[in-house]
Amino acid sequence: MKLFTIVYDVIVIGGGPAGLMAANIFEQHHINYVLLEKNEKPGKKLLITGGRRCNVTNSYHVNEFIAHLTIPHKNFLYATLSEFGPKEVIDFFKQRGLNLILEDQIKYFPETGKSSSVLDVLLSNINKERLLCRQFVKEVHQTEYGFLIKTNQSTFQTKHVFVATGSNSYPSTGSNGDGLIFAKYLNIASTPFTTAETVVYAKQVSKEYALLQGVSVKNTKVTIKDTKIFYQGDLLFTHFGLSGPVILNLSEFIYDQLLKGNTYLSFGLTDLSEQEVIEIFEKARRDNSQIYKILEDLTTKRLAKVILEKLGISPKNINEVSKKDINAIIDMVLNFTISVDRVEDKEKAYVNRGGILTSELDPSSMESKIVKGIYFIGETVDIHGPIGGFNITIALSTGYRCAKAIISRL
Ligand SMILES: Cc1cc2nc3c(=O)[nH]c(=O)nc-3n(C[C@H](O)[C@H](O)[C@H](O)COP(=O)(O)OP(=O)(O)OC[C@H]3O[C@@H](n4cnc5c(N)ncnc54)[C@H](O)[C@@H]3O)c2cc1C
Repeated sequence: MKLFTIVYDVIVIGGGPAGLMAANIFEQHHINYVLLEKNEKPGKKLLITGGRRCNVTNSYHVNEFIAHLTIPHKNFLYATLSEFGPKEVIDFFKQRGLNLILEDQIKYFPETGKSSSVLDVLLSNINKERLLCRQFVKEVHQTEYGFLIKTNQSTFQTKHVFVATGSNSYPSTGSNGDGLIFAKYLNIASTPFTTAETVVYAKQVSKEYALLQGVSVKNTKVTIKDTKIFYQGDLLFTHFGLSGPVILNLSEFIYDQLLKGNTYLSFGLTDLSEQEVIEIFEKARRDNSQIYKILEDLTTKRLAKVILEKLGISPKNINEVSKKDINAIIDMVLNFTISVDRVEDKEKAYVNRGGILTSELDPSSMESKIVKGIYFIGETVDIHGPIGGFNITIALSTGYRCAKAIISRL
């Protein structure tokens, strides 16, 4: 094993968006640093983001961005995002020749439609000699001059360490939770990674509602029954259960509820309000419309079929349907209920909840409060957001702020 006698000012562990952003700032300020990445190349996860198109950021102002986060300690990010938030992310890429294009009025993607363009920009100003790949960091020790870092190949010495190792989601990309192991060794507190932003499994869908596989419901409000927790967005019935943005965003809370016991999701099969649905049925009564046709217009062919079959009501004109049955139909349209069996594992989730506790970190620098000289950035920290470019923004933003903070101290 080779021991590097150089004592670096900073060693960054992990070449995801957080670590690469920090490296960009160090390059600008000619800092004596290296970035250690365990894979043969950095940015493996970044390349698969947003369906390989990478939803880099969004159009929210800092206050709105924070309001969308569901973590209780979200204000921890206020100063960080105020310094380098969505607007600065867009400018950063624009200044380096990559325009980000607005989609659906909220999400920003690279104009090339390729996540590789985002990675190319992050790498373009990094001196290749400072990017050391196939360096799998195994141990981080505190010493009298700073830190000793042992990898599978070498031992490095540094005054400061940036841990940017990500979470435990998609470990095949290199992110397998090592940051928490380093932290534990140094007595820095963390909370275990658990699943967030993922799909849910429901046998009821695959068995009872097999016909609905592939059916989507636009902009529906999904509530976890017996709680006040809900999200609004598009939902998709799949061959294993439920998916779609609204389910991904709700999944971490469904996970919590499953730990307590039986979990049911309730949602409308239309985005119309209760009052609007009732009015449609009242008008249909006056016109004596066909019940199947009313439901088809309100939802889809397959949902209409499933509702009538489930309630044992044959297709006929509405005035031949009993009031009790009509009320049951309306209730099913407004409060369709599915029993959930489990949430996808954290390793297959897009994002993980958990990581280094923010109470352990100085929000102005991301430095550990108890072990001076070690900093945690990106998804390895217990901060995450919903889908829509929040997580890459958080990684870039914390990487930027942390690097700037350290430069002012060097
Ligand atoms: C399929 C998918 C799609 C996604 N789409 C989006 C999206 O469109 N928009 C969005 O905002 N977010 C998206 N995310 C989430 C986003 O990718 C992450 O939040 C983000 O990559 C976190 O960045 P990071 O730098 O903190 O960590 P990571 O990107 O996870 O990078 C960590 C790096 O550290 C390296 N590493 C780990 N341990 C060691 C070690 N011991 N030694 C050396 N190196 C190590 C890893 O190899 C890796 O390169 C998506 C995630 C997935 C899985």
